[in-house]
Amino acid sequence: MAALEQIAPEHLLPIGDEFIRTEKTDTIRLPYDGSPVAIVPQGDPELVERAASAARKAANIIGRWSNFERAELLDRIANLVRRDHAAFAAAISHETGKPISEARTEVDRSLQTLLASSIVARGLHGEAIPIDGASIGAGRMAMTIREPLGVIGIITPFNVPLNLAMHKLGPALAGGNAVVHKPSEQTPLSALKLAQIVREAGAPAGTYNVVTGPGEIVGKALVECDGIDMITFTGSVETGKAIRAAAGLKKVTLELGGNSAVIIEPDADLDAAVTRVVQGGYGYSGQVCISVQRVYVHEDVVANFRSKLVEAVATLRIGHPREDSTQIASMISEEAARRVEAWTKEAANAGGKLLTGGTRTNNTISPGVLADVPETSTFMRNELFGPLVAVNRYTNLDDAIVRVNSTPFGLQAGIYTQHLQHAFQTARKLRFGGVLINDVPTFRADHMPYGGIKNSGIGREGPKYAVEEMTEPKLICWRVG
Ligand code: NAD
Repeated sequence: MAALEQIAPEHLLPIGDEFIRTEKTDTIRLPYDGSPVAIVPQGDPELVERAASAARKAANIIGRWSNFERAELLDRIANLVRRDHAAFAAAISHETGKPISEARTEVDRSLQTLLASSIVARGLHGEAIPIDGASIGAGRMAMTIREPLGVIGIITPFNVPLNLAMHKLGPALAGGNAVVHKPSEQTPLSALKLAQIVREAGAPAGTYNVVTGPGEIVGKALVECDGIDMITFTGSVETGKAIRAAAGLKKVTLELGGNSAVIIEPDADLDAAVTRVVQGGYGYSGQVCISVQRVYVHEDVVANFRSKLVEAVATLRIGHPREDSTQIASMISEEAARRVEAWTKEAANAGGKLLTGGTRTNNTISPGVLADVPETSTFMRNELFGPLVAVNRYTNLDDAIVRVNSTPFGLQAGIYTQHLQHAFQTARKLRFGGVLINDVPTFRADHMPYGGIKNSGIGREGPKYAVEEMTEPKLICWRVG
């Protein structure tokens, strides 16, 4: 692993053209074993105000840049992230406890997000408006141009600290905005490093400011700050609701939780499905908003599917996140591990059968499979965010669809079948932001539209879609005769 000073050499807050030392600091610990990995500054509401006014100055500059200049800035940031790939991966692994191989994938993904943002910046445009479609518009022409909102407040969760920040920073810059970012207090290292890169790439001072600290103080101050034009949030439903309630007239987009499900029809390629359920259900110990949590398998193949899944899960390697071979390291905290343990026991006590795993050693939960879990259990109703999957049986497809839909969440869902009509009929009936056919709901390409309905949120990400939220169409109309 990289040395501490390579991860966060300054441990200062990047605000405006300064790096600010704060009185209070926090120690970031490797979630796997609690060993300290960095000491970071702790911001406060006053620093949020300073960051917002620094961002306003930067927004007045970058907001006048051409599409080309903004795209070039994003390309330069990408080049520097590529140069520092190993240090970013180490920072992500240190702060999240994510296995290093997954941390490297996150850096790769964030490069894809930057590329998509740069393409969006290059092509950002309004539209021609057929203003003379109404009699009052006769003799006039009209168009819209896309104008930046100004200063975007970003609030991100612990689990994907670099790429989720990139999903907000990339489109914000593409649209000509400046940013104040409040990363998760558990995982601020990649944001602090990213701020250095954004400066090195030649962004005007104040383009990307980071204020660390507790959500209820620093996050809340950002949401309430008059100098912020929009809040873009990724995190839990509870926090999302609090932010929406506190944001007043600010624009708000919310990417919230899920308890994703996949249906396995009797004609499905079971081996392919098992391989993907393992990838989708146990990656980063299930601490992913589109992690596979509920699997509904047709009764004709459920026994076969379960035994294949249990066999595959047994091969997952549990270990220290720094080891290349590690597939399961730890949960983000002991509290999270204890919660997953409790929900698993409750599901088993309610009649579910624990086929394998689900036991806790310190902060690590062994990858588990449950069968026939009651639909009313906490495990099935809520977001588990842990390395267990429930495999329930069904008799007919319509019943499975009803059960998949009977959740307060609506991020993504999937179906495995060879039957074209069943696949597309199901895609139409599933009430989710995205449906995957012959894949698990955990699939996300960084340029696709991504987001949820119901409790899973408001708005869509993917740079092309996020930039629409982060810019306004301004109408320009002129008389031609
Ligand atoms: P969280 O809601 O606890 O915290 C997220 C962020 O909000 C943190 O930075 C936190 O400090 C801040 N915050 C907390 N209280 C606040 C307040 N009152 N005002 C402003 N900010 C506040 O979430 P978490 O535990 O870090 O992350 C896990 C959650 O994120 C899961 O529910 C997961 O599904 C969700 N998530 C969603 C997506 C998606 O794209 N839909 C992606 C990743 C994670």
